[in-house]
Amino acid sequence: MKKHNFSAGPCILPQEVFNEASQAILDFNNSGLSIVEISHRSKDFVDVMEEARSLALELLGLEGKGYKVLFLQGGASTQFLMTAYNLLQSKAGYINTGSWSDKAIKEAKLFGEALEVASSKDANYNYIPKGYEVPNDLDYLHCTSNNTIFGTQIKEFPKANCPLVCDMSSDIFSRVLDFSQFSIIYAGAQKNMGPAGTTLVVLKEDILGKIERQIPSMLDYQVHISKSSMFNTPPVFAVYTSMLTLRWLKKLGGIAAIAEENEKKAKLIYSEIDLNPLFKGFAAKEDRSTMNATFSLADGHLKETFDTMWKEAGINGLNGHRSVGGYRASMYNAMPLESVAVLVDIMGDLERKA
Ligand SMILES: *Cc1c(COP(=O)(O)O)cnc(C)c1O
Repeated sequence: MKKHNFSAGPCILPQEVFNEASQAILDFNNSGLSIVEISHRSKDFVDVMEEARSLALELLGLEGKGYKVLFLQGGASTQFLMTAYNLLQSKAGYINTGSWSDKAIKEAKLFGEALEVASSKDANYNYIPKGYEVPNDLDYLHCTSNNTIFGTQIKEFPKANCPLVCDMSSDIFSRVLDFSQFSIIYAGAQKNMGPAGTTLVVLKEDILGKIERQIPSMLDYQVHISKSSMFNTPPVFAVYTSMLTLRWLKKLGGIAAIAEENEKKAKLIYSEIDLNPLFKGFAAKEDRSTMNATFSLADGHLKETFDTMWKEAGINGLNGHRSVGGYRASMYNAMPLESVAVLVDIMGDLERKA
């Protein structure tokens, strides 16, 4: 039986993408060859890379605006250092909204000053800082749009007179934003786009080439741009599967259409969390993520009963991250509303039973 997969990542992808991707493992485009055994320089694969790039730009509304799209390796975690390597001359600013931001700051410190412009560490990251001043002498300002572990999401992005860099690993392509406010957007594929193994980087070319240090080729955005993400062998299967997900999203009506679905799912679970006295939410209400809902039982003694109930209903991946505890329902683009309804029904059943 197919599970209701609430896992935070690697995560659910559309069933039709799994079907098509598995077919391509056996026979890609009727070539008699598998997608994983063809040359990455063959026309068939170059077309895949091209389509993935242009779909990403189209879906984000960034065509013709000076942006380049890269599919790199090393995860979002490598972007923590690559952004700093390529852009940090003396001082960068960071909005610290969770463990991932914290890790990005740690890497940036290897290259220069990484100033914490704002932080919600004082409350175990259960809210998004607001009303802070952004200094006007930064090389760039870095933020994390969605805090996967804590279940908070930035609704209003900071204004700065420097390039804005955003880690969108866990909510890329999930909501309507003016994406042109960002100079770099990066996202590990495995939260909302594809299997682990590739990282999407969308960046404005004109912010590059302004620092003095030497950059190793594999970590240099300009090298990857000049080689169209083929400086070395790209992760062909991860790129192909991501492309299929982007095709699926375009067919659905793009980000605006999926955003509406994501709102419905979020509303459904948060209203249960708020109305059911057995549960309490973790994140501040106004900062709640539409992707990852974090909550816990008001009374721990029901844990065993609740855990048995959701597992028996075919739900997977509901345990919270160890730094928050409780539960986390990750509801990425491919999760159907019906799966969230199954979970909400169980929460209701628990209340009736208790
Ligand atoms: C998962 C995650 C990461 C880490 O991604 P990797 O691809 O595993 O390096 C970074 N940032 C955010 C917001 C994430 O959710």
